[in-house]
Formats: sequence, C-alpha cells, structure tokens
Amino acid sequence: MTEKELEQENLIYRQGLKGRKRVVVKIGSSSLLHPETARLDYHRIDQLARELSDLKNGGRDVILVSSGAAAAGREALNVDLDIYRKEAPMNIKQACAAVGQARLIQIYQKSFEEYNQTTAQVLMTRNTITNRNSKANLQNTFSELLKLGVIPIVNENDSVATAEFSVGDNDNLSAMVASLVNADLLILLSDVKGLYTDDPRSNPDAKFLDYIPALTDQIYEMGKGSTGTSAGTGGMSTKLHAGLIATSSGCDMIIASAEEGMSILHDLMEGRNLGTLFRQNRSERFDLGDYVSAFGEKDTE
Ligand code: GLU
Repeated sequence: MTEKELEQENLIYRQGLKGRKRVVVKIGSSSLLHPETARLDYHRIDQLARELSDLKNGGRDVILVSSGAAAAGREALNVDLDIYRKEAPMNIKQACAAVGQARLIQIYQKSFEEYNQTTAQVLMTRNTITNRNSKANLQNTFSELLKLGVIPIVNENDSVATAEFSVGDNDNLSAMVASLVNADLLILLSDVKGLYTDDPRSNPDAKFLDYIPALTDQIYEMGKGSTGTSAGTGGMSTKLHAGLIATSSGCDMIIASAEEGMSILHDLMEGRNLGTLFRQNRSERFDLGDYVSAFGEKDTE
C-alpha cells in the first residue's frame, strides 16, 4: 500500500470511531499531576470527568482506568518525591497507594457527580485474570455496572499486589480490561503524543506515525528501550504490548497526549487525526490468559 493510500485509509477508518459503543480510557499519572510539584491537578481531573460524562451521555459505555493512587498518597503523607523515587521500599509505596486510592476515588466521585454520573471502584491484579473464578466474577461485575449505566474506575490493587502478582503498569492493565469487556476502542492518554519511528528526544529525524494497520515485529521494535514518563511506569514498549493485547482481542487502540487538555477525547471520537491509531486485528486464537502469563515479554505468535 502506498503512503497516500494508507493516509486515506486512516482518515476513513477514523470516521468510524464516532460509532464506537464501548470505550476504555486509560489516564497516566503524569497527566493528573502538576509537573512542577507532582501534586494532583484538580482542574485536569475535573476536565476528564466532564469529557467522559459527555461520551457517556452520547450513548456509550465508558470505563476509566486511572493511575495516580501512589501519587495522591505520597502527597497526603508528605513523602518526599526524590526519596520516594530512589529509596522507597515496596511497603511505603503500597501504603501510599492505599491512602491515595481512597482519595483519588473520592475526588473522581465528586467531579463525576457534578455531571450526574455514578462511578464505581474496581481494583484488580494479574491474579484476578489468571484465576478462572475471579476473572468470571470481574467480567460479571463489569457487565452489570455497564448495564446499570455506571462508569467503572479501575486501578491495580496495589496494596495486595507485589511484583509477582502485579500487572505493574496500567497500559497493559487497561488492555486486559478492554479485552474482558469486549470494548471496541481503547484510548491511552499520557504525555506521549503517539508512536515515532525512533525516540524523538534523541533522533530529530524520527517520524511520527498516525496509523498502524497491523502491529508487526518492525513496529514492535520501535518501542524498544523507551523509558517511562516522569510520573508513571509505562513507556512506549508497554504501550505497544498493550496494543498487542487490545488489537488481537478485536479492539482498536489510540495512543494520544492529554497535554493540550482532555478535550482531545471529544476530538478523537469525532474522527480527528490525532495520536497514533492501531487498527484492531482480531485473532481467532486470542486468549487473554496467554498474554497475561507471558506478561512483559512479547508474544511470539
Ligand atoms: N497503579 C499505580 C498507581 O495508581 C500506577 C501504575 C502506572 O503508573 O501505570 O499509582
């Protein structure tokens, strides 16, 4: 396919996003904090609640996967940011997440209530998916909440998940959620604009890619070696792994930046050409369990 044809296909495909009925939006910690202080940015949280409420009012099922628990707890407990990053042991991080998760949900609830939306908290770990019963329970809960018109707000259950049981980053967690609820679109919002052919910070010739019709090995290689953002844990390679899960399960995925504001959600749903769109490529052999057990490594199938 020529570049021109690809460009055309992207624009046409994006028009179809208007009709998407079940959308999972993942927001990274870096998009919820003031960069100067790493404290919560209430204005952005409120903007996000407003945008998601609007998507909901437009007739869609909406699920939010939000990071920010550890950051909110660190703020509440006055744990020094540098010390936290360099030295904080797992138990301090988990205590911060436990304090912060309650705060985060309280803030979201307040904001969503302003727009007449009911929210629910759903906490999960990798175990929730690998255990057949917990997975079925989780799916039933999501299905009932969506039927009731609730917006579930999901995070990793950091206070019970040590490395062995944890998904670790919410990019992959959100792709797992998208597959569990049969979402038709996953949007990963962070401070990253999308996928480049190389790291744009070190290579000025890196080219921005707005449309990925299939997540090939060559595309997968482009994310290698990229580090996470200042506040979150997911870099480009985790986003591409999330892309493998989402697209193979039959869900389109977009990586986009919330730096210019949360109204990007509205623009994306209107079909505007922003961020990088990974087109779904449903595999008949897709089994979420394979991706979860091989977690962190590229699935070779
Ligand atoms: N679950 C962690 C939190 O809420 C964040 C994980 C991530 O940054 O992706 O703080």
